[in-house]
Amino acid sequence: MDTTPMKAQDGKIIGAIGSFADITESYLLHQEAMDKEEYLSIAISSANLGTWRINAKTKEFTASARLKEIYGFDAEVEMPYAAIVSHIEDSHRDKVFEAIDIAIHSGEVYEMEYPIIRLYDKKIHWVHATGKLYQNSINNGIPHFSGTIADITERKMDEQRRSDFIGMVSHELRNPLSAISAYAYLLGKRADKNNDQTLNDTASKLARQIKRMDAMINGFLETARLGEGKIQLDKTNFDMADLVRLAEEESLATITSHQVIFAPVEFTPVHADKDKIEQVILNFINNAVKYSQNETVINIACVTENNLAHIYFTDQGMGIPQKDQPYIFDRFYRVESEQMQHKKGFGIGLYICKEIIERHNGKIGVKSNEGHGSTFWFTLPITAS
Ligand code: ADP
Repeated sequence: MDTTPMKAQDGKIIGAIGSFADITESYLLHQEAMDKEEYLSIAISSANLGTWRINAKTKEFTASARLKEIYGFDAEVEMPYAAIVSHIEDSHRDKVFEAIDIAIHSGEVYEMEYPIIRLYDKKIHWVHATGKLYQNSINNGIPHFSGTIADITERKMDEQRRSDFIGMVSHELRNPLSAISAYAYLLGKRADKNNDQTLNDTASKLARQIKRMDAMINGFLETARLGEGKIQLDKTNFDMADLVRLAEEESLATITSHQVIFAPVEFTPVHADKDKIEQVILNFINNAVKYSQNETVINIACVTENNLAHIYFTDQGMGIPQKDQPYIFDRFYRVESEQMQHKKGFGIGLYICKEIIERHNGKIGVKSNEGHGSTFWFTLPITAS
């Protein structure tokens, strides 16, 4: 309310003129913002998250006590902003900088997992970090960059142990499997020679199962290697159209349960590891077959958009619930549902695909409508032709 005194000629105040503004709306908005902030702080503290904030105007940096604790600082010691990045392990620092840079320019959230070296004890801890530039927020309208950091060391150690174990077991399984494979081959030869049809059928079934097991073991070994950052790329120049044609031939020869339709592909030159990209393509096709009903259609297309090769795999299958979509490229992640109980798998195929594509500076993703189907896609930079 604004008021001005009303005076008589002698200067005596005889009344007041006032105006009333209805501030209900702004009061409610403020209240709503306060409520949101309160909910947020409850969520932050129950998730044991560390938080930080940089005022975009004054560059003042504030770190919560939990954040300092995660980074190994004493609560009373001031933590400079530089510490957030300087404590990141060398192997991950550039990637984190890149993600922060993209987040600042795009206004979107960055979300990453990386190892940090703590201040005093120099121990390596893994963190899950998010951050966003807020242009206009509850912080009195002052733009600020802020984020959360969670200590995920325990989970990472668990994953590492699981991965080490899988790597070791897979390695040990390899030798006996190659011996079995050699015997199955001999059995097939003997069956041929003796014209023994039953034995021949058995030998080819045996060979198929050995191939399946070999693919599984290779997948496990690859997962273990990826975890250690040891995957090697052998890049050459080739035409994606050739690779898609190869996948088409293979699909026509091996998939009878579904209708797999490949759209025509134009010349699409890329510089990539051909075997690994083929592995990604086959993985998407196999998943489309595995997670959709027999007789349904699977569409595959490769097109060029903005100097990128875009490859799409669309199925009419079970789809993926919205809440699971952000995680399905994570190692060992599988959707839990009634339908999924009958689908065997280990949740490593998409993780391997993501690693392979990201190491080629490509992107990978999914659009899915639960109960109606999914479109998985990936991109690769096109080379100048
Ligand atoms: P796996 O198939 O061995 O479980 P993946 O890493 O290939 O492992 O896939 C991870 C999860 O993503 C699957 O368990 C499944 O829940 C989901 N998924 C993958 N592809 C599809 C698809 N085409 N349709 C529906 N769900 C899918």
